[in-house]
Amino acid sequence: MLLDPLPPEIVVWGARIVDVVQAANGRWSVRLKGGAVRECDLVIGADGAGSAVRTALTDARPVYTGVTFVELWITDVDRKHPAIARFVGRGTLLALHEEKGIFAQRNGNAVVRVYAAFKTSNVTTERPEQSLVGISTLDLLARYAGWSPALLSLITDADRIAAIRPIVSLPAGTKWPVKSGLTLIGDAAHVMPPMGTGVNLAMLDAAELAEAIVSAVNWRDAVRAQEQVMLDRAAPIAEECLRRFGEWFDA
Ligand SMILES: Cc1cc2nc3c(=O)[nH]c(=O)nc-3n(C[C@H](O)[C@H](O)[C@H](O)COP(=O)(O)OP(=O)(O)OC[C@H]3O[C@@H](n4cnc5c(N)ncnc54)[C@H](O)[C@@H]3O)c2cc1C
Repeated sequence: MLLDPLPPEIVVWGARIVDVVQAANGRWSVRLKGGAVRECDLVIGADGAGSAVRTALTDARPVYTGVTFVELWITDVDRKHPAIARFVGRGTLLALHEEKGIFAQRNGNAVVRVYAAFKTSNVTTERPEQSLVGISTLDLLARYAGWSPALLSLITDADRIAAIRPIVSLPAGTKWPVKSGLTLIGDAAHVMPPMGTGVNLAMLDAAELAEAIVSAVNWRDAVRAQEQVMLDRAAPIAEECLRRFGEWFDA
């Protein structure tokens, strides 16, 4: 829906940003993997928790919370696992006990996404796919010994382990000195523990910034003002997410 109105050459897929540096003329040079450089008036870093754009604005880095979510998928859930479909319902199921959790979320296309969440130091946040190498559903079940069979079925009936997601967070209220023509949105600006807000904030950041730019007399002022609005909005939400996450996992 978002791509439809755009000419196909506008979006350059598979372009990995290495870094962003200010050129002598004040514009921003975006260096891509492979050596290509794009010079821009405005760079909006929407490149997530491990943002490469962020490094041009601040030394702040996300810190591992000590908790990792192992993501599992149950596909074709209504047909193949009707009991799980009923158990999870149309929204999200949360079960917490002794600093561990099993969460399940109804997604589109008859998929239930499950997270087995627990504390572990055995991860690398730079290469999460190499963390907990070889972990199996049997290993996971061992961590949840004694939990109810209905909750354990969310692990045993999953098609596969889809991802290892170490949970990282920037300090709540992270800010940086304004640099004209360079800003961040979404997790790049304010990654926080997942308590059901991240996507919503990222989309709101993007929509508001777009509106501010298209309706501005001076887009530089509009970007600066919107950055402040975004950071002021995210700070108390991040604080609350960190507090609740800490309560759940003693993290
Ligand atoms: C386990 C887990 C569960 C979550 N559950 C929820 C939930 O239920 N509800 C909710 O609202 N939020 C949830 N979140 C949070 C949510 O996923 C994020 O807040 C949201 O995805 C942030 O969107 P974003 O566009 O800022 O970043 P991302 O979704 O991370 O997108 C960043 C994009 O930038 C690309 N990128 C990264 N680095 C570079 C680079 N150097 N160059 C070019 N491109 C790059 C990435 O490939 C990616 O496509 C969850 C997060 C986790 C970890």
